[in-house]
Amino acid sequence: MAWRGIIEEFREFLPLSKRVKPVTLLEGNTPLIPSRALGRQLGLSAKVYFKFEGLNPTASFKDRGMTVAVTQAVGEGARAVICASTGNTAASAAAYAARAGLDCIIVLPRGAFAKGKLVQALMHGARVVAIDGNFDAALSIVREIATTYPITLVNSVNPYRLEGQKTAAFEICAQLGGRAPDYLLLPVGNAGNITAYWMGFTEYYQRGLISERPRMLGFQASGAAPIVRGRPIAHPKTIASAIRIGNPASWDKAIRARDESGGMITTVTDRQILRAYRLLARYEGIFAEPASAASVAGLMKLAHEGYFTGRKIIVCVLTGHGLKDPDTALSGGQRVITARADVDAVIKAARLRRWRS
Ligand SMILES: *Cc1c(COP(=O)(O)O)cnc(C)c1O
Repeated sequence: MAWRGIIEEFREFLPLSKRVKPVTLLEGNTPLIPSRALGRQLGLSAKVYFKFEGLNPTASFKDRGMTVAVTQAVGEGARAVICASTGNTAASAAAYAARAGLDCIIVLPRGAFAKGKLVQALMHGARVVAIDGNFDAALSIVREIATTYPITLVNSVNPYRLEGQKTAAFEICAQLGGRAPDYLLLPVGNAGNITAYWMGFTEYYQRGLISERPRMLGFQASGAAPIVRGRPIAHPKTIASAIRIGNPASWDKAIRARDESGGMITTVTDRQILRAYRLLARYEGIFAEPASAASVAGLMKLAHEGYFTGRKIIVCVLTGHGLKDPDTALSGGQRVITARADVDAVIKAARLRRWRS
């Protein structure tokens, strides 16, 4: 049967009444892609997979939570939704609001988000307000507005967001043939996603659908690592704008996921993130955005430290698509080669002579 979107597919696990009609773009059902190069290059005997969440309808995992949050908002009679965003929440909220016929208001840190995400929000007709402040400031502003206006807040502090996001854990278990991975690696920003995955694995475990839960391994950028440092960061800095967050809303729940799973939350540098980002595109054929590459940077860091032993199963979550952020992609110095419009000139420019038989 054709895929029906995460609400219809996982309704028994979601706190929505049977009667509500899903606001859906048929999100979810993203591929779990085996690594062909990186796992081997790192000398791992483990099997490495990438859960490519960049293949959701607006090209990030945010769609899983947004379908549930917007469906619930419509069920409650909302006419508008609001969110603070580093970009992907905005793109997703704007698309699902458009789908539902709701107004959408977005508050962003000025100049600090990837171009593709802004383009999406504008195309879907959201009212986008850029503030002189960072994500944390934007979040506190929209939280206050949502308490005084009849507008539904769709940031991940909205519990329906995490309920939807947990379905990625269900899909991974199905894709691995009815088991969880040994390790789940993911970037940590506002810490909603690590919380949601842990919820998902725990629900499957409690229902006896899997016999073990994974160790949760979360990665923050070293300039934006409040959970690792144990204190809020006033001016978080990283190239990975989707995890440029100094005071995560789901901080305590992320700590619980880490500790209950026997996992860890640690840092990766921007250099490590960019290296992983380029390797993933160049040697795996997967173009994920910089924040997503934090999970792969984390894999490389821990592999070098000898953390992984034996024939384990490792899943790296790739949270968003690389096309979101063309500016960072092109900052690597790659060039288009120009040539005259004739065969010889193109052969020369593309350096094809060495291939002639
Ligand atoms: C939102 C987002 C994150 C961070 O997820 P949190 O739930 O805030 O920890 C990471 N990567 C991408 C691409 C995102 O859009």
